[in-house]
Amino acid sequence: DTVGSDLDRTVAWCADRDALVECRTGRRWTYAALAAEVDALALGLHAAGVAKGDRVGIWAPNCAEWVFTQYATAKLGAILVNINPAYRVSELEYVLRQAGVRTLISATEHKGSDYAAMIESVRPSCPALRDVLLLGGPEWAALMERGRAADPAVLAEIAPTLGADDPINIQYTSGTTGFPKGATLSHHNILNNGFFVGELLRYTEADRICVPVPFYHCFGMVMGNLAATSHGACVVIPAPSFEPGATLAAVAAERCTSLYGVPTMFIAELNDPGFAEHDLSSLRTGIMAGSPCPVAVMKEVVDRMHMPEVTICYGMTETSPVSTQTRGDDSLERRVSTVGRVHPHVEVKVVDPATGLTVPRGTPGELCTRGYSVMLGYWDEPDRTAEAIDRARWMHTGDLAVMDDDGYVAITGRIKDMVIRGGENIYPREIEEFLHTHPDIVDAQVVGVPDEKYGEELMAWIKPAEGAAEITARSLREFCEGRLAHYKVPRHVHLVDEFPMTVTGKIRKVEMRERSVRLLG
Ligand code: ATP
Ligand code: MG
Repeated sequence: DTVGSDLDRTVAWCADRDALVECRTGRRWTYAALAAEVDALALGLHAAGVAKGDRVGIWAPNCAEWVFTQYATAKLGAILVNINPAYRVSELEYVLRQAGVRTLISATEHKGSDYAAMIESVRPSCPALRDVLLLGGPEWAALMERGRAADPAVLAEIAPTLGADDPINIQYTSGTTGFPKGATLSHHNILNNGFFVGELLRYTEADRICVPVPFYHCFGMVMGNLAATSHGACVVIPAPSFEPGATLAAVAAERCTSLYGVPTMFIAELNDPGFAEHDLSSLRTGIMAGSPCPVAVMKEVVDRMHMPEVTICYGMTETSPVSTQTRGDDSLERRVSTVGRVHPHVEVKVVDPATGLTVPRGTPGELCTRGYSVMLGYWDEPDRTAEAIDRARWMHTGDLAVMDDDGYVAITGRIKDMVIRGGENIYPREIEEFLHTHPDIVDAQVVGVPDEKYGEELMAWIKPAEGAAEITARSLREFCEGRLAHYKVPRHVHLVDEFPMTVTGKIRKVEMRERSVRLLG
């Protein structure tokens, strides 16, 4: 199957059911209406010269047109290049050039940024870029008009022969640990991953999935859109980009059964001043993923947000993305302390990064994954691909993990974030979990900073609760004393309102480390 044929199959049995809702505008589409938009866009793009293998970029926050573009490009065999809406000219230029984007579909503006002007400024240095279609602009309208006027039967004639292993998507990694890399994914990669995510959440055509996470990332486009369409479920877009209040309102208004987010989004929702006003009783399940979730937050999501079956997924862009997931019937204990067990048809192992040998259960090491979900490679970067995927096709994730005797995997951090203080390996995650038990701390992140005596020392960035007594290095030390090993007690404290984040809501520890060094300097 391909992404396009999978959509058509769902249309055959769910034609009149809701497929997509855009809460901000009140626009909504059944599966039949969605398919009509997708086919019109595919025909329009074909008429504009887009052919199999061409790169089509999309640079827009979440909106229905994003979804149309995802399926229309898949039908043409074009390669969709997801561009982060938070990118600015230098990053935009990098991606357009790196992927050789031919046609760019873009928002006109978002959050006060003039996208059209930014595109014009990079155009001269992007020779492959032929067409720019601004959403809501006259060219877009004309293209859709032309597509709608065309005979839909033409689509079957012009559709190229598509193989399940053909590339259809280039997704840049979040850039949490450095410069984003363009993971090239096939129909087979993402369609299957979306399907199995939906299977594990027991999705049916009765489910309504609230997706406040960006489509630009796998979390939105695979775990959201593809999981939904492969099961006949509906995707609800609360707002163009994440807003806690709008998300809660969308769940209540659309009676959503499932809600997605990275842990920081759930924290923001739980702390939203209007939280109690929204009826969340329709929720059953959801996904928390992307970064480690503090145990206390997970418990609140289950109880206060009515998500008894909420699951945790672990994965990365390079593996389409999900490799392990908790099941709805796993014990809460397992759901708060692990990222679950391996996904169907995927293998995982934990190796000693130094020797590459599998370590005994219970011993930390680097997590590796193998199976249908491993990307084709990084676009046009064979050397980086060879560094990440070994000759036996194992993807080396760069994440530290422990697997228990029953196969449950716990992520203990990233190899790059591990702090070595005076010869002791410290996993910041453990200390962050502990700091969450402090009554005056809303959120905490810990990084290593250079230290003359110990090589590295810990610095805690703390988001204090409103109206709480000031947290100092000293008061924190007193709190930790007797409860954490002395070498794990953060030496430095920095109070903040926000952490530096990627647009996918991940904390950029690289930037925190750089800023910490400057703060101490
Ligand atoms: P870059 O590769 O550019 O540095 P990134 O790794 O953050 O950025 P993504 O592919 O979006 O880019 O994220 C995958 C990473 O997110 C994983 O390698 C892992 O470190 C982290 N991650 C994902 N899910 C979880 C989870 N449930 N618990 C802990 N960490 C997670
Ligand atoms: Mg990564």
